[in-house]
Amino acid sequence: MNVKLKMNPISKAKRIVIKIGSSLIIDQNNGRINNEWLSILSSEINNLIRGGKEIIIVSSGAIGLGKEYLNIKTKTLKLEESQAAAAAGQSMLIHAYNQKLEKYNIKIAQILLTLDDTEERRKYLNAKNTFDMLLKLNVIPIVNENDTIATSEIRFGDNDTLSARVAIMMSADCLILLSNVDGLYSDGPNFSKTPNLLKRVDEINPEIEKMAGDSSGYGKGGMVTKINAAKLATSSGCATIIAKGSLNKPIENIINNGKHTFFKPIGTPQSARKKWIASSLNPLGRLFIDNGAKNALNQNKSLLPAGVVRVSGKFSRGDLVLILDEKDNILARGLVAYSYEDAQLIIGHKSSEIEKVLGYRGRDELVHRDDLVTEIN
Ligand code: GLU
Repeated sequence: MNVKLKMNPISKAKRIVIKIGSSLIIDQNNGRINNEWLSILSSEINNLIRGGKEIIIVSSGAIGLGKEYLNIKTKTLKLEESQAAAAAGQSMLIHAYNQKLEKYNIKIAQILLTLDDTEERRKYLNAKNTFDMLLKLNVIPIVNENDTIATSEIRFGDNDTLSARVAIMMSADCLILLSNVDGLYSDGPNFSKTPNLLKRVDEINPEIEKMAGDSSGYGKGGMVTKINAAKLATSSGCATIIAKGSLNKPIENIINNGKHTFFKPIGTPQSARKKWIASSLNPLGRLFIDNGAKNALNQNKSLLPAGVVRVSGKFSRGDLVLILDEKDNILARGLVAYSYEDAQLIIGHKSSEIEKVLGYRGRDELVHRDDLVTEIN
């Protein structure tokens, strides 16, 4: 009885990233927006939103739409041609989402990212804060790669990878990759003639990766990048689903246990994020805090500047710092929201005074609780 519920991570999820491939959003007959399809998807998104989910969309399609609009006839585009096409097509893409979703009173916002925006910690924090604020304001962020400035070195290159990075950055619990494939097919151990759609993958091991690579016909259309994206996301606690987007109601199809492949997450997004903070970086500074702040940390609250008595080290916004009591005991570690210079100026002050002290309004917290791991947990 419970199996269906267990197999349905959409119902369980609070925050969902949906990746939409170009072949879905563009009408293959005329190279323009597939209005009919987008209308149906928008009604499905509306259902998810009304069901209390937070939705982030990662949508491809800018280059394809721009290519048609600019009348570029070449089959394989040069980098500058793709960039020009993306610049033109992106506004058409966003306009289309806006048109469809405003019928449901859903607001959208455009976010264009490059690889280093999710890798470099200062940019990462800025991007994350923007997403957080948009979601708080009930706006759907619609993300694409910033193709206009993305040179080959700083490109994601594909939106499967981008969507996984966004899902990880935002601690989403579910990533849905909608494209033109039903899911991951295997020929089975005996390479039987009837390919077998895997319903569930508990671990993305070399055998699974191999299925993506050599699945004669059935796995084409970027299955390798999809499996890589699933690997990235699931290892950060985000359940991943690969499903065919061109079905009548693709999201409902997944919820009703229609064809798709489900990839089981390892742990939760929160535990993965804390592990990442705890293990992967070198602390570049120290914040010494008073007893009031120590109590706040014990109650899982953020660290405010008011509770910090002294700072040391040399750190920038987004760097890892240690948080200690006045007797030098390490209490926690976290990503700091201010540089060393600014932190020194605002410690001991109420958050409402930050603007007066620094001349700009930053975050209220010196280390936000989402970016903090106490030594006990
Ligand atoms: N950013 C590209 C576009 O919007 C798509 C990349 C992809 O489909 O993976 O056209």
